[in-house]
Amino acid sequence: METIVISSYPLCRCSHTYQLAVTRNYIVKMIVENQLTPETPRQRKYTRVFPCPEKNIDFQAVIILYETSDDSIKSVKVEGLLEE
Ligand SMILES: [Zn+2]
Repeated sequence: METIVISSYPLCRCSHTYQLAVTRNYIVKMIVENQLTPETPRQRKYTRVFPCPEKNIDFQAVIILYETSDDSIKSVKVEGLLEE
């Protein structure tokens, strides 16, 4: 489970932490010792709807997640607010 913090969104001006359900395709590879050059993660942008519990509105926001070829993102879903 991955979480994302949205702070000061212009519509509600509050800060919330959301839980994301991110499904990734993990690939298991054999690692040869001298081939450990790390891959630069790619940015993926997703537009999702986030509910604001204080103003009782939903707003859209773009979230940026990172992936490599070893853990490419299959789907991203907003599970809801993370209780603190
Ligand atoms: Zn809010």
